[in-house]
Amino acid sequence: MKFFILAILCSFPYIGKSQSENLTTQLYDTYDTYKETTLGKRRIKRADIQPLIDKFSANEKFRVSTVGKSIGGKDLSLISIGTGETDVFLWSQMHGDEPTATQAIFDILNFFDSPDFKMEKEAILANLTVHFLPMLNPDGAELFQRRNLLGIDINRDALRLQSPESKTLKRVRDSLDADFGFNLHDQSTYYNAERTEKPATISYLAPAYNYEKDINETRGNAMKIIVFMNDILQRYAPGQVGRYNDDFEPRAFGDNIQKWGTSTILIESGGYPEDVEKQEIRKLNYTSILSAIYTIAKKSYESIAIEEYEKIPENDRKLFDLKILRASYTLMGNTYTIDLGINQIEVDYPDHNRFWYSSRILDQGDLSTYYGYETLHADDYTIKEVKVYPKTLNTLEEIKALNFKDLLKQGYGYVRMAAIPTKHINSPFPVHLIGPKYKVPELKLEPGINPTFLLEKAGKIEYAVINGFLVNLNEGKINVPNAMIYK
Ligand SMILES: [Zn+2]
Repeated sequence: MKFFILAILCSFPYIGKSQSENLTTQLYDTYDTYKETTLGKRRIKRADIQPLIDKFSANEKFRVSTVGKSIGGKDLSLISIGTGETDVFLWSQMHGDEPTATQAIFDILNFFDSPDFKMEKEAILANLTVHFLPMLNPDGAELFQRRNLLGIDINRDALRLQSPESKTLKRVRDSLDADFGFNLHDQSTYYNAERTEKPATISYLAPAYNYEKDINETRGNAMKIIVFMNDILQRYAPGQVGRYNDDFEPRAFGDNIQKWGTSTILIESGGYPEDVEKQEIRKLNYTSILSAIYTIAKKSYESIAIEEYEKIPENDRKLFDLKILRASYTLMGNTYTIDLGINQIEVDYPDHNRFWYSSRILDQGDLSTYYGYETLHADDYTIKEVKVYPKTLNTLEEIKALNFKDLLKQGYGYVRMAAIPTKHINSPFPVHLIGPKYKVPELKLEPGINPTFLLEKAGKIEYAVINGFLVNLNEGKINVPNAMIYK
């Protein structure tokens, strides 16, 4: 009899796991049905989510309230659903330029609004009350910047509580006395899973609540949920998960919310190859967070071993957008072998709705411990200077008519104009535009310069790097979103 009971008990977690795996697969596969299509890029503003908040306000399934205002007077809204005893609280974008999870939250709300997944939703809504606070820093979002209008990092204001956004987060957390908290952020796309070339597409942390990094039940439950979510990520983005250093930060919200008794899960959305607007990462947020909510409702996370948490690789920051490996470079008559680490850096247009690129060499030398989203093994290549096209042109139409690939093959990457059109702040072509008197400086590789050079092999130009984007001159189309203007 004793043996029989034990056998039943042991089989429970197993059944739970396969059930939730099925749900995860279905969530991932049907994602497009629930994706909030009015949001599709990273630069979103409070005004973009207002119609969605209005839509859920008018829907009796949801309870929507204004729980505070930002310094700039923008509403902070809380959207709740469910009647269960366990409270789950999710907040996003306390850093204004970290919008991926805000988009995923509206996908999740659409899921709850739909008639599908009836059984799973009943289980969630009977056991949990789920609360969403999307875009905690709407003033920062307006400017696509990390900090709020006071110029502070809200995530260092958990104790002093100077900002109204911080006060709101604390007050809502306290009033709910939430059992679980999801602290939703974006991180730099240059993070990788340590000692691998894989980007940290998602990084996790169960923040410490003291300097000793003790693990109590609250923090332990957060670790279990992270182990659960990591399993999901490994299915869709194998190797692309990192774990944050858990040094205690006494001023941060995550650490304090953990301390205040809410099992807190920090999720950082990082990079994914060829996903500039992070829409695949948004989908992974949707799938993994909803699956986690389900596992909290079913309590099936309880049997997960905390030790698994430590096995998730640590986060590192060793990625470049483009890595050029072992190229030859001649300086003052001598030739050296050099690696280049290049980042394609975004610059916002004044309206903060769109961006352009102003790329930089970040580092050079032996970069053999670093990785690239794109890597060129340049052993047989010599770095050469880009030349100015000999003819001065008058209009953008004339430039547009040029054969850029031919130009680059001949080594021309700068085109001089009689007058640079004033309304342009960058070149829409894969060549730099220069003013009538501009003198192109001699190529001297150093961190901080715009990466513009040619790669020559046996006397033939095979690649060009223009504004940090690699162009293979033997194949395909030229992928240089923009080049620079030098007046
Ligand atoms: Zn953040």
